[in-house]
Amino acid sequence: MAGIILVHVCQRFLHARHNVAGLEQLRQVLDTANRISAERAPSNVLMSGEPGLASARDRLRAARAETDCALARDAAIVPAAQFQNAVRYLAQARVLVDRAASQAPAGYDTVQHAVDALFAAYDTYQAAIMWEAASLIRSDPELAGSVQHALLLSTLRDDAGRLGSTIIAPLVVRTAIPPPNIAAGDRLAGRIAMQWQMLALNPDLTDRGPRLTALRTEAEAAFFGDGLPLVTRLIAEGTHGGAYTRSAAAFSNHYVETLTPLEIWRTACLDTLLSHYRQRARRALALAWVVGAMMLAVVGLIAGGVLLVHRRVLRPLLEASEAVVALVHDQPVRLPLSHRGSPELRPLFAAVELLDVKLRERAAHARLLKHQAETDELTRLLNRRAFRMLGKPRLDVAGSGRRAFLILLDIDHFKSINDRYGHTEGDRVLVAVAAALRAHVRPDDLVARIGGEEFAILIQAHTQGTALSLAHRLRRGVDDLEILSADGARISVTASFGVAAGDGLPWRQLIAKADAALYAAKRAGRNRVRLAEQDVFNWPQPLPAKTDPARHLA
Ligand code: GH3
Ligand code: MG
Ligand code: MG
Repeated sequence: MAGIILVHVCQRFLHARHNVAGLEQLRQVLDTANRISAERAPSNVLMSGEPGLASARDRLRAARAETDCALARDAAIVPAAQFQNAVRYLAQARVLVDRAASQAPAGYDTVQHAVDALFAAYDTYQAAIMWEAASLIRSDPELAGSVQHALLLSTLRDDAGRLGSTIIAPLVVRTAIPPPNIAAGDRLAGRIAMQWQMLALNPDLTDRGPRLTALRTEAEAAFFGDGLPLVTRLIAEGTHGGAYTRSAAAFSNHYVETLTPLEIWRTACLDTLLSHYRQRARRALALAWVVGAMMLAVVGLIAGGVLLVHRRVLRPLLEASEAVVALVHDQPVRLPLSHRGSPELRPLFAAVELLDVKLRERAAHARLLKHQAETDELTRLLNRRAFRMLGKPRLDVAGSGRRAFLILLDIDHFKSINDRYGHTEGDRVLVAVAAALRAHVRPDDLVARIGGEEFAILIQAHTQGTALSLAHRLRRGVDDLEILSADGARISVTASFGVAAGDGLPWRQLIAKADAALYAAKRAGRNRVRLAEQDVFNWPQPLPAKTDPARHLA
């Protein structure tokens, strides 16, 4: 909307500027025409051969210089053909004037010929004026009134000059005025009266303030009160024999003076018209600036609003949604969010923070539950389920150069320990055995309590010897435990071990294989290590006493 208004205002400004430029050009060509007609007065004086020739020659030289200067300016704006035509006619007229002046006082025909040639030069230039006026009206029909007004003023001034020129030749040669000149004078006087009335009808003239009104009154007084009666009187004198009361030079000098207010009024009218359009252009430009500034302000406000909404609402909302997604996926979130958003979003941020707290609580709870689900409560080792879950994937050690080995152990005659020392002491034994196992393995080995007094260790080793060696160390570790009962007696604890290599076996089969080895150890007398499917075993045999369940009672 603001853009449409701005475009409209700019168009108005460009239009007004175009009109100002057109009117300036019209005034320029009218001014040139006026200068061409202004050459007539000093020409007339020179041709009359009366006293004051030197000053008339100077005035003519100055008038011609001004005309040439004006023509040089017009060369850029008037069509070349019309321009050259006018220049040619003017040059011819000047030649005729100079010839008449050189013969001064010249003959009637010579003077009349020169006067007519000056008229012809002016008339030729009228074509350029009409071309300029027509192109101006075509570009903006609204200017028709103003343009016609300017043309009317220019024609009035020229016709007034022509009226005087109708009697110049008779005055120069001091003869009666020929009837064609009288008829031409009558026609010109009639035209001038009509033009004057038309100018009075034009509101462009009457409504332009007191200065123009005063100039008009002055022009009317000078021409209609002085210049025109003078011409009328001389025509009357010329009609009745040619006994003129004024010489050609005296008439010409005085008559030009009566036309001067007319010229001033004409120039003032054109200046007023021009300033009117200049003012319109200035107003349109000022309006364009105001609308442009308002538009910029509106665009700035909208952009600011969008930025503010983006910064205070959209971005915080996005951050909140990203935070929720991150929380759901258990990823780290930087909280709090509320300092960036608008106050209205605080409940949302508080909800996200609450969600974070609750999710943390739940995660901690889940971890606890998982830990509880995976851990043996008494010994803090992995339970059977967790051992299977974590152990199964470790069987696949392809490419690492190592093999998985399962070591199963069962405390020997544990029932007797319970029976002898009580269940609580039996529990202490279980805890101590667990600690001993844990102490002998690496942190990444899996150690679990998989039954009442049964334990399992899953390791990865390069050789079977490494696994067997560990099993023996464990056996000795259990055997060496210093557990004292409540009454201070040492509780002797041993365990039997079964060792089996994973070698691509399924979990169940591996367990069964190690279990079979374990029970082979049991059968062989307990407190010993057996390798699955190994008949010969090179490790030292356990002491016979350990095979006796009663030894725990000792
Ligand atoms: P063997 O050498 O053949 O393995 O003899 P054993 O007595 O160790 O084996 P048996 O299976 O006969 O007895 C296991 C005992 O372990 C029976 C049970 O009361 C005891 N037991 C199982 N779980 C616990 C426990 O958590 N705490 C205690 N104190 N005793 C337990
Ligand atoms: Mg058992
Ligand atoms: Mg046992």
